[in-house]
Parts: sequence; structure tokens; C-alpha cells
Amino acid sequence: MIRRKEIKNYLTPDAISQDIKFIADAMLGRLARWLRFLGFDTLYYSGISDSRLIRIAKEQDRFILTRDTRLIRIKGLKDYLLIKANDSFHQLLEVIDALKLKHFDLLSRCVKCNGRLSRIFDKGEIKDSVPEYVFLHCNIFLKCTDCGRIYWEGSHPKKFREKLGDILKFSNDT
Ligand SMILES: [Zn+2]
Repeated sequence: MIRRKEIKNYLTPDAISQDIKFIADAMLGRLARWLRFLGFDTLYYSGISDSRLIRIAKEQDRFILTRDTRLIRIKGLKDYLLIKANDSFHQLLEVIDALKLKHFDLLSRCVKCNGRLSRIFDKGEIKDSVPEYVFLHCNIFLKCTDCGRIYWEGSHPKKFREKLGDILKFSNDT
């Protein structure tokens, strides 16, 4: 469990809503994908400098997720969580627990680029973009409004889908 005092300067747990936006440091690429999978607006750039990360967080009112103990010593830094777990799934559970996240919006955000997904109503539109089997057997398709990637039920890696039940159980327990 994460003690509340480890979430620095955040207003109150009640103030944290689904609208929270994140920026993850360069060590947390997989965590960023998990958060997007759950519908959270999460920026991630591999190789981002500390100063740029902090600047973007301030400008866009984003909550910083970091594994860098050096970064959190920077004077005046606020709204951050120091992530302790090594593997991405437990990192995700840390974030959910610390910020008391309960509302997830699956299939709303592109795991790859953080863009918004929009529903495709005319299946014919994506006929050439997905495997034939998928085209024939799936009826719900979504497209990233930024990078154009197509999603369908089951298109996320198997690991994501298997772990999903664990996440929902976890959020109900807390
Ligand atoms: Zn995308």
C-alpha cells in the first residue's frame, strides 16, 4: 500500500477524477500503455529530459509518474508519484491505489500514441486494414483519430486482456 503522504501536494483524494492527465518519465513506457488502455490521457516520450517533462507537466496540468528519485528532489515539483514496482502491471496497481482511480474507460484511447479512438460505423471503411478473419467476425471497430491505428475487440495483446480482470477486481477492493 502507498501512504497518502507520498502523493505530494495533491489537493485531496476526492479531487482526483477520471479527468486526471499523466506524463510518464522515460522509464515508464509500458506503464503509459497500460494507463492509455484504461482510458487515461498519458504522455510518454522515450528519452525526455527532466526539464522538458516538468515543463510539459506544468503547462498541461499533468500528474508526473516517475521512477527517478533525483527528479523528485527538484525544488518546487508538485503533483507527482514516485513509482516503486519494477514490472509495469504492479506499477499500474500502484497508480490505481495511490490515486484511488476507480473509473476506467476501455477502448477510448490509442495505446500506441495516446490519441482518441472513434467508432467506425461503416465496416467497409476498414476492410483492407484488418485481417480477413477479424473483418468477418468482429462488428465493433475503432480508429485512432491521431495515428489511424484500427482497434477491435480482442486487438489488444492477450496479456492486457488477461490482466484486466485483476485490475477491475483490485479497484473494487479498494
Ligand atoms: Zn494512435
